[in-house]
Amino acid sequence: MILAAAVPALAAESLLERLTDTYLAALRRQARPVRQAARPTPRTGNWEDVRTVLHAHSGLSHDSRGTAEELAAAAKAAGVRAVFMTEHPTPDRRWWNEGLRGDIGGVLFVRGAELSSGLLVWRSDGANWTPEMSARDVLTRLDGTAGVSFIAHPELKTADADWDLPAFHGMEIYNTHADALDNNYEQTLNSLRTNNPLRTLTLVNTLKKYPREAFAAIFDEQTGVLQRWDRLNVEGQARRRRVIGIAANDAHSNVGITVVAADTDVEIRDGLDAVVSRTAKSRFPPLLFGDLSRGSVLLSHRFDPYPISLGYVSTHLLAAAVTEEDLFSALLAGRAYVAFDWLADPSGFRFAAETAAGPVEMGGETQLTQQPRLVAQANMPCVLRLLRNGEELQRVEQGELTAPVTQAGVYRLEAWVRLGETLRPWIYTNPIYVR
Ligand SMILES: [Zn+2]
Repeated sequence: MILAAAVPALAAESLLERLTDTYLAALRRQARPVRQAARPTPRTGNWEDVRTVLHAHSGLSHDSRGTAEELAAAAKAAGVRAVFMTEHPTPDRRWWNEGLRGDIGGVLFVRGAELSSGLLVWRSDGANWTPEMSARDVLTRLDGTAGVSFIAHPELKTADADWDLPAFHGMEIYNTHADALDNNYEQTLNSLRTNNPLRTLTLVNTLKKYPREAFAAIFDEQTGVLQRWDRLNVEGQARRRRVIGIAANDAHSNVGITVVAADTDVEIRDGLDAVVSRTAKSRFPPLLFGDLSRGSVLLSHRFDPYPISLGYVSTHLLAAAVTEEDLFSALLAGRAYVAFDWLADPSGFRFAAETAAGPVEMGGETQLTQQPRLVAQANMPCVLRLLRNGEELQRVEQGELTAPVTQAGVYRLEAWVRLGETLRPWIYTNPIYVR
């Protein structure tokens, strides 16, 4: 990847080094002009640009306490118009029977599940599957039904053999939770929980000051996953087997710390309110922490509340309307792109092929005989990279690109923005296939 060298050596730094006032203040300062430069505009033509969250958990999952109201309010605040739920399924099928669906507070919800074998499924009620089945078995059972299946956590499928599966519709090309894990996020949090109270207080105050930047500080480009995605699409060309790329918010609202005074000591609780450690009251000077009587909350912070995780990244579906039917049509056609919305609202972004037979959107197919011309336009100056079969073919600096196509292949586009001296991905489109 040519641009990789231009990206700051974020991966080399520990998360704790990123969660400093200096780093987060710089990130905020650098992101501001990017956000201000964007000129979000409604799409013209047949499709609306519908910001959609495709991987989210509520209290129906064992590892979240989130409510429908919290999710809907957060989605609304973030400009997210639809949320496709992916609850951890249990044999009692609560994820289905009580699953969030339909209009809740002006946001469209769709029921779905995330299997521990690394599969997201929607519309899977027509197939007979159970939560403990392998991805292979579930995919076999979904075959021929209306079921929609996406590979979750592709970073865990590192061997080629892991991908030798019955047909699936697509895969996550960015997963927030995976990105947090590759920074040893849990270890960082544990050290935070067991750290000395003054350092913890300082860190929590910094996180509170920069909630959005502290969340975005987890970012590392998921290059291995993107390469896998490109390979699947290039190798699938002959059989017309396509893999649609989506972003996974993997929103749980379950990462945090609360410090509560007990009778004789102090409890350190995690984001699900479970006590993870205890420490002596004497370590908490009342001057800084206030009242130490039983039940007093000395410190509390949630790192990943829904408003932050839903506003960070999303999948933009180009759909006729915000209905379940139209959104699935867009998703299954690959008429979709991933955007890190926290950087800037990408609305109005366009990547299409102009052909003798009319325009072809992302996810679509055309032929060389149609004399296709790829056109891309972002709503602000940014770096556009056109990739063919996973290799950079062209790069322009101004946010607008036109490229006549002379070779068959899988063409996708990335938009990168400048944060200070560095470049960071903003948009990943689904490919246009030229035969
Ligand atoms: Zn999940």
